[in-house]
Amino acid sequence: MAKNIPLSAVRELQSELRLLQRELPLEVHERVDLASWSSMRIGGLGDLVIRCGSETVVAEVLSALGRIGVRYFVLGGGSNVVFDDRGLRIPLLTLGGDLARWEIDPDGVVAGASAKLTQVCRAVARAGFSGMEGLFGIPGTLGGAVAMNAGAYGVEIFDLLDRVEIVPAGGRPVTIPAAAIGHGYRSSELKQRGDVVTRVRLNLEPAEISRVMGKIREINLLRRKKLPSRPSAGSVFRNPPGDFAGRLLEAAGCKGLRVGGARITEVHANVIVADRGATSADVVELARTMRRRVHDRFGILLEPEVLFLDELGEPIDLGG
Ligand SMILES: Cc1cc2nc3c(=O)[nH]c(=O)nc-3n(C[C@H](O)[C@H](O)[C@H](O)COP(=O)(O)OP(=O)(O)OC[C@H]3O[C@@H](n4cnc5c(N)ncnc54)[C@H](O)[C@@H]3O)c2cc1C
Repeated sequence: MAKNIPLSAVRELQSELRLLQRELPLEVHERVDLASWSSMRIGGLGDLVIRCGSETVVAEVLSALGRIGVRYFVLGGGSNVVFDDRGLRIPLLTLGGDLARWEIDPDGVVAGASAKLTQVCRAVARAGFSGMEGLFGIPGTLGGAVAMNAGAYGVEIFDLLDRVEIVPAGGRPVTIPAAAIGHGYRSSELKQRGDVVTRVRLNLEPAEISRVMGKIREINLLRRKKLPSRPSAGSVFRNPPGDFAGRLLEAAGCKGLRVGGARITEVHANVIVADRGATSADVVELARTMRRRVHDRFGILLEPEVLFLDELGEPIDLGG
């Protein structure tokens, strides 16, 4: 299975997973086409995808991986990740089953981490809650949104977050208050630590349904104008302090640049789209060119927002 994982570890992992599968909601898929797991629609074969249907399963799987000494990558909706054309040798951990559901209560919503962010935004709006409108249309899951502190139109998910249930690597499920979790612009320490977010509680304000739905329609229209229809992974680079990556990239003449099948869209200089035949090597090369151009012109080194993963699950360096 894995080039960097010793065969004995692979066998041990497979047999542990088979045992767990007998009793718990757990799916194991081998040789999976990664392109279908990422919004960029690029990537070779992933050796192993482990889909966990509850927090207990996540804890069991993490403990098996820890015991055997195998690294893993937690995947939500794959809307901020670009996989390597050569695939991925470490296991991908995804969530489903019970963790894809949500429940609305008088204070807001409790949602499983693999619930789709936009579906939850719509459901709470229809139930007469305000707060999530700005997040409508951001692809991906609640878990990914919390790990990234996703945000748009003046709201970040941490503004609404009350508490988070996580499974730390090798540990048992715990609930932590959002206030105790370090976070910033498009980042949180959950992602840095490799904790798996399994469930979140968002506190929301009661509001008139027609007003909230109107706001959602407005935001949907704005998004449609700004975003390309071709596959992408959203903004390639974070905004540097006090400026916008898109403005810098446009001024550096990046709009319309192309490497192979990867192209910077005309609607946004910070978004790469994948045309027919695009490879991860094309996308990475184009991202390097964007970074270099802005650095040469403005002396600013843009930090990637998209995670470019190599075959071993390590972030690819875009150069300095
Ligand atoms: C067209 C388009 C528009 C976008 N617009 C926006 C926008 O307006 N604002 C914005 O902030 N982002 C935007 N994005 C980026 C992306 O959608 C967000 O970052 C999103 O929140 C990522 O969620 P995901 O579930 O797809 O995460 P993934 O891409 O699967 O993963 C992203 C990171 O989160 C981690 N992660 C995922 N799930 C979990 C979990 N359960 N526990 C722990 N870690 C986890 C992963 O390990 C990875 O490091 C856009 C992307 C696209 C393609």
